[in-house]
Amino acid sequence: DVMLRLEGISKSYNPGTPAEISVLRGATLEVARGEAVALVAPSGAGKSTLLHIAGLLDTADAGMVEIGGVATGDLGDRSRTRMRRNDVGFIYQFHHLLPEFTARENIMLPQLANGVARGAARERAEELLASVGLTERGGHRPAEMSGGEQQRVAFCRAMANAPRVLLADEPTGNLDPDTSDRVFGALMGLVRSTGLSAVIATHNLELAARMDRVVRLEHGRLVERVERVDAGRAA
Ligand code: ADP
Ligand code: ADP
Repeated sequence: DVMLRLEGISKSYNPGTPAEISVLRGATLEVARGEAVALVAPSGAGKSTLLHIAGLLDTADAGMVEIGGVATGDLGDRSRTRMRRNDVGFIYQFHHLLPEFTARENIMLPQLANGVARGAARERAEELLASVGLTERGGHRPAEMSGGEQQRVAFCRAMANAPRVLLADEPTGNLDPDTSDRVFGALMGLVRSTGLSAVIATHNLELAARMDRVVRLEHGRLVERVERVDAGRAA
C-alpha cells in the first residue's frame, strides 16, 4: 500500500549555464501507508530539494511523484495545488510561523485556506495544541514562545489539514533533547495511529533508528541503509 512514490527523480539548478549543478540523479523511493522513513545525508546533498519536489512545492526535471496512487505529473495547476494543501504537510527546521498571528491562528490559517469553517478550524487547532501540551499557548505569538514551543506549533500547523504525507526537514534540529523527544514522539504517534506516511530528514541517528527505515541520499540517489538501523537498535 504505497502512499508516496518517487521514481527516477532528477533535478539540476541553473541548467545550461556554467553554474549548472546536478543535485538529484534518478532518486527513487517508496513510502508505505503508516511508514516513517528517515532521510539521512550530508548538508548540501539535496534533501530540501527532494522534499520540495515530493511535496509538490517544486518540479523535477525528470521522474515521477505519485501520492496516494495519483501520478502528480498528470495534474493541472489547480489539482496540484489542492493536493499539496490537502495531502501533504511540511515541517521545516526554522518553523516559518507567521509572526503577526497567534499559535492558534497559525494552525487555523491552512484550514481556512482550504474552506474549513472558522469554528471547526478553531476546534481542530485546540485539539492539536492539546496533543503537544500547548493548550495554554494558543493565544501567544511566536515571539512570545520558546523555540521548542514554536516547533510544536509548526508541527500542529503541518497536521492541520490531516495530510496523508508528512515531509519534515530536520524537524527537531534546533531543539533540546527533551523537546526533541516530545515532538518526535507526537509525530510517530500519528504515524502509528492514523496511517500517516512520513519522510523525515535528520542528522540524528538515534531518531533515525526509531523510524521504520533509513535511506541515505548519496550522489543524487537514494540508498537503503538497513545496517545503520540494526546497529542503532542493538546499541
Ligand atoms: P540540503 O537540503 O541537503 O542541504 P539542498 O537541496 O538545499 O540540500 O541543496 C542541494 C544543492 O543545490 C546545494 O549545493 C545547493 O547550494 C544547491 N541549490 C539549492 N537550491 C538552489 C537554487 N535555488 N539555485 C541554485 N542552487 C541551489
Ligand atoms: P523561501 O522563503 O526561501 O522560498 P521557504 O522554506 O519559506 O523558502 O519556502 C519554500 C517553499 O515552501 C515556498 O514555495 C513556500 O511558499 C512554501 N511553503 C513554506 N511554508 C509552507 C507550508 N507550511 N506549507 C506549504 N508550503 C509552504
